[in-house]
Amino acid sequence: MAVFNIGTESLDAGLNILGAHIDSPRMDLKQNPLYEDSDIAFLDTHYYGGIKKYQWVTIPLALHGVIVKKTGEVINVNVGEDPADPVFGISDLLIHLAADQMDKKGAKVVEGEDLNVIIGSIPGFDEENKKEKDAVKNNVLKLIKEKYEIEEEDFISAEIEVVPAGPARDFGFDRSMIIGYGHDDRVCAYPSFMALLNTTKKLKKTACALLVDKEEIGSVGATGMQSRFFENTLAELYNCMGEYSELKLRRALTNSKVLSSDVSAGFDPNYASVFEKNNSAYLGRGLVFNKYTGARGKSGSNDASAEYVGEVRNIMDTDNVFWQTAELGKVDQGGGGTIAYIMGNYNMQVIDSGVAVLSMHAPSEIISKVDLYEALLGYEAFIKYA
Ligand code: MN
Ligand code: MN
Repeated sequence: MAVFNIGTESLDAGLNILGAHIDSPRMDLKQNPLYEDSDIAFLDTHYYGGIKKYQWVTIPLALHGVIVKKTGEVINVNVGEDPADPVFGISDLLIHLAADQMDKKGAKVVEGEDLNVIIGSIPGFDEENKKEKDAVKNNVLKLIKEKYEIEEEDFISAEIEVVPAGPARDFGFDRSMIIGYGHDDRVCAYPSFMALLNTTKKLKKTACALLVDKEEIGSVGATGMQSRFFENTLAELYNCMGEYSELKLRRALTNSKVLSSDVSAGFDPNYASVFEKNNSAYLGRGLVFNKYTGARGKSGSNDASAEYVGEVRNIMDTDNVFWQTAELGKVDQGGGGTIAYIMGNYNMQVIDSGVAVLSMHAPSEIISKVDLYEALLGYEAFIKYA
């Protein structure tokens, strides 16, 4: 999705872009997901993005997505968020029998194929044949058919995401934080979008909030940042203004400036050893700038130029935005990436900027409210002055 606020200057001068992603780590249903084992009905999943699988068991889960029938009819699915809805979940082994499991490495405690979501346990009653095969599965399927008017094979053309159920909540006695699913990267996507809506004064440069999919699996495919979607959209925009030319489009791309709005790792005193204290993001200290990301010697990162970092510092200070700079963690502890380097491929000036998160990619992530507020102010300042 791209939202524009058209400025008074020509697009050739470049745009000020706030680029965030709106996908989050989760579990997706497989195409043939439904099965029964030992009188329990399950949905089989394939996880999406980087997760510690052991975190996703024994918590209430919801289903979100679409089922598309052969006719093209789209059926929306949303079960588990309304307090009256049922929820779903994945079981874990009881501690009493977990001697072998507890000796396993973290990555193997719960494995990808173990992420099977329990969805029912009542066998359907069959008059003629009392021991009907898959009676539990068939009963659940009957309920699904009644509710959505689909057949089992319609799961083949469905996209259903399994995510933690329930709303975000205030966190801490002082209510200074928010715990919720998917802060990465909605906590940056939302203020990016709101910065555009809040800016009612005429801007000089055209501003854009760019919200993309598939970042968590490498920004691939038709809806990811690596697709031609953004430059095509910009070409259409020029065309609407009656001034499209290939050269003008190239100039607009090259002259654009970007805040790659994505989360950063918040310093966690419980795991201090993986952070470098002088170059970490701290909860409550404002909008975080990552000059570079990447791993093993900045590999895969967009390294913002000193000139651009200087300009961004000046913009933030002009509007008294609280900000900090950080790396994800210690050198060679790991790493990560964002859409920054893909925007950089257009020759744009790009820097990563966002909100610090504790427990990133866990089912419940934690952020500070003031950081979110400063992100909004920072994004508003950027589209005003960059
Ligand atoms: Mn992210
Ligand atoms: Mn992420």
